Amino acid sequence: MELFKIGFLSVGLIDIVDVALVSFIFYRLYIAMRGTIAAQIFVGLLLIMGVSFVAQAANLKVMTWIFQPLQVIWVIAFIILFQPELRRLLVLVGRNRIIRLFLKVDVHESIEDVVGAVTELSKKKHGAMIVFVRAIGIRTYAETGTKMEALVSNSLLLSIFHPRSPLHDGAVVIKDRLIEAARCTLPLSNLTVWEGRLLGTRHRAGLGISEQADVVVVIASEETGTISIAENGSLSQGLSPAALRQELRDRLNVETDRSVRSIWKTIRNNA
Ligand code: ATP
Ligand code: MG
Repeated sequence: MELFKIGFLSVGLIDIVDVALVSFIFYRLYIAMRGTIAAQIFVGLLLIMGVSFVAQAANLKVMTWIFQPLQVIWVIAFIILFQPELRRLLVLVGRNRIIRLFLKVDVHESIEDVVGAVTELSKKKHGAMIVFVRAIGIRTYAETGTKMEALVSNSLLLSIFHPRSPLHDGAVVIKDRLIEAARCTLPLSNLTVWEGRLLGTRHRAGLGISEQADVVVVIASEETGTISIAENGSLSQGLSPAALRQELRDRLNVETDRSVRSIWKTIRNNA
């Protein structure tokens, strides 16, 4: 259905809806990325697409020859350039509590061992970092360490984080009942200060992985013996062993009873 004509272009209702939708999506993308390096890349990509379109419309042969291939590969370029942003988006989808109900992990027994070990490590001021992964693993980072595939136990954790142990540096990654790997190197957060206190690399690494993946990280400080939890880019410091146990149970969803009421509550809270 044609509504009006601009020169040789005939514009229909569908075209207007099409342009409005694309504009809306691009606008939302721009708002979401404003102020980040991704926004600049995004503007650059738009410019290239614009130039390529103009070159084609004006029949500039050499310009088209240069810019047209860029138009074809821009989807691939988009995925490569925006890899961190796309990953964060997928993690956000995975973090959704409704999806978690279907991807329950079995960490109940691991929690007791971790709380016991971390309590003892913090008393002795032995540094430690333990990452609980939820349904979606962090293989890339687990592979930076030493593969273990060992049942979680209090004494194994104490041995790993003993300062003389070859495995004590870096983080332990736990999935369900297994220690997947030890001595893992995690990505550092850009934050260097939290609530007025300077963060060392251990705490920055714990925060960093919690920004990028669906995990709960327990950190014991070597300097002060304090116990912290990092999740979703946020740090809770100075936890007592009892608070650590409760936090882990809450955050890893252990006590959720599967009654219809609790599922309904989750759906309602998400709505
Ligand atoms: P603490 O309170 O225990 O002193 P911190 O936050 O002040 O911790 P550092 O003193 O810098 O941090 O701790 C250094 C230790 O942190 C290293 O020995 C190593 O075990 C761990 N660490 C440092 N960087 C990383 C990383 N990228 N991934 C995992 N672990 C790391
Ligand atoms: Mg330190």
